Amino acid sequence: MDPQRSPLLEVKGNIELKRPRIKAPSRLPLSGSRLKRRPDQMEDGLEPEKKRTRGLGATTKITTSHPRVPSLTTVPQTQGQTTAQKVSKKTGPRCSTAIATGLKNQKPVPAVPVQKPGTSAVPPMAGGKKPSKRPAWDLKGQLCDLNAELKRCRERTQTLDQENQQLQDQLRDAQQQAKALGTERRTLEGHLAKVQAQAEQGQQELKNLRACVLELEERLSTQEGLVQELQKKQVELQEERRGLTSQLEEKERRLQTSEAALSSSRAEVASLWQETAAQAALLAEREERLHGLEMERRRLHNQLQELKGNIRVFCRVRPVLPGEPTPPPGLLLFPSGPGGPSDPPTRLSLSRSDERRGTLSGAPAPPTRHDFSFDRVFPPGSGQDEVFEEIAMLVQSALDGYPVCIFAYGQTGSGKTFTMEGGPGGDPQLEGLIPRALRHLFSVAQELSGQGGTYSFVASYVEIYNETVRDLLATGTRKGQGGECEIRRAGPGSEELTVTNARYVPVSCEKEVEALLHLARQNRAVARTAQNERSSRSHSVFQLQISGEHSSRGLQCGASLSLVDLAGSERLDPGLALGPGERERLRETQAINSSLSTLGLVIMALSNKESHVPYRNSKLTYLLQNSLGGSAKMLMFVNISPLEENVSESLNSLRFASKVNQCVIGTAQANRK
Ligand code: ADP
Ligand code: MG
Repeated sequence: MDPQRSPLLEVKGNIELKRPRIKAPSRLPLSGSRLKRRPDQMEDGLEPEKKRTRGLGATTKITTSHPRVPSLTTVPQTQGQTTAQKVSKKTGPRCSTAIATGLKNQKPVPAVPVQKPGTSAVPPMAGGKKPSKRPAWDLKGQLCDLNAELKRCRERTQTLDQENQQLQDQLRDAQQQAKALGTERRTLEGHLAKVQAQAEQGQQELKNLRACVLELEERLSTQEGLVQELQKKQVELQEERRGLTSQLEEKERRLQTSEAALSSSRAEVASLWQETAAQAALLAEREERLHGLEMERRRLHNQLQELKGNIRVFCRVRPVLPGEPTPPPGLLLFPSGPGGPSDPPTRLSLSRSDERRGTLSGAPAPPTRHDFSFDRVFPPGSGQDEVFEEIAMLVQSALDGYPVCIFAYGQTGSGKTFTMEGGPGGDPQLEGLIPRALRHLFSVAQELSGQGGTYSFVASYVEIYNETVRDLLATGTRKGQGGECEIRRAGPGSEELTVTNARYVPVSCEKEVEALLHLARQNRAVARTAQNERSSRSHSVFQLQISGEHSSRGLQCGASLSLVDLAGSERLDPGLALGPGERERLRETQAINSSLSTLGLVIMALSNKESHVPYRNSKLTYLLQNSLGGSAKMLMFVNISPLEENVSESLNSLRFASKVNQCVIGTAQANRK
């Protein structure tokens, strides 16, 4: 402390420092009455000091620069300020007491202000009046001034105490308020935490909702796509519907037209029904007539066949084959018939020169001419079709219920098999009588079925070798094996004959017949390897059982068509040495000759109407007995070789055939039931 400074100045300085704190606008929510102070209260007490202590403030401010009331607002406070506040709180009231005590205890100091060297000191005057300078001797006056001064200080102290009291009250209020505000703040913080939690929850929900929204938006876009697609489809369907509607309309129009046409057709049908009924009656009448005519045709056909003869003989001369010697001219001649060259030939002349006969002059004897006449003669150039044409009517008789038997007779190599089965290679032109006859029968049966008749055919094919019967249609293990077949009656008292162990195959078309002929050829080929040329040493008998039925008329007919390829008719050369092979051959030949002569004898006996017909003398005649006698029709082909070397055998064949040709078998009777 400045030793020259008086305690009074010290106090003044303190007061001076406190005043701005009071005057400073408080931001506390205090009542105006508490905070505000009348300006006169403030100014009155301070004004004189201000005037007197001007120029000293800077020194005092450092020690007391702190607010009396702590601010709760956001006014920034320095560390020094806070510390000063605390000090002020603790020391504030005591300080003023200390001041008062200091003033009491202090000795009175001269009221002369501290003067800087060179300046004159002027004593302060109360009430703004310039204090009058008291002479140094006027101690009483000075004392009086000092008392007055003291009095004013006391008053001032009192005022400051009151003020201090008020400020403390305000401080308490403010502290309470701060406490309340703290509580409120905690509550608010609690609220804030809750709100934040809610906000977080809200955020989460929002996030979820956003995800939901995204998903929904995606679905929406999908749905929108679908909707667009459906709309497109709808448009298409509408288009289609329009098309269908127009089609429907068109169809309805057509339906109406059709209905109109239908009703007119119905009327037409009704009239047609009437017409049909009338025609059916007419048809029945015509069928009746047709049947009568058919019967008449059959009768006439049969008469014709009878007129031609129930036994007919055709002679067929085969052509000279490549590699064979050309026969001398005039060996075989085919003289024209009575009707001239246009008539089919029926005569044949064979010229044979007999070397044993010589003329007296030694010149060779002129050849002997042998003339034969048959129902028909086929010269070498005749085709298979031409031959069949002649027998087609005969085959037809089989369908009419007459047994028909066709033989091919002649020496080996004369063309019997060619005539019956056909030539090699499956050439249709070379087809023989068997396939042609069957085709003809199938087609005629087909025609007749239109008139209510039904026909069925069963085929069998056997060979008779050395008086044993063998099935040519055998298959499997029995294939190629001979024997074991027997000719038996079909039943006790039955006229019908059957071959045991032989296959009877139903046939209805050409193909089936072809297959059977092929099988027969195979079976013969197997046999041929076993025994030399057995086929030519055996009789092959193809038989077709024909059954016809006219159910509406209750008619039934049955007959058989037999096509027989006879064994070679040649005789054994008597000049041959009789070795073991030849002996066997002789036995074969004797069997063949025996069966062939039996055939001739049977025909003769039938022709002569003998009481006994020697059918049983050979297997062949026994098997064919139903196709030879009675109502049967017989045709014999005599096959002739054109070669000179075969003349002798040809002559024998022609003689045999001539004998047969002279036979007449009684009137045939159809096998009708
Ligand atoms: P066969 O059965 O009487 O022993 P084939 O029928 O086997 O005699 O005939 C002997 C040969 O003569 C065979 O090669 C056959 O093709 C042929 N042939 C027979 N007749 C005729 C014909 N009319 N036209 C052509 N070739 C025939
Ligand atoms: Mg033959």
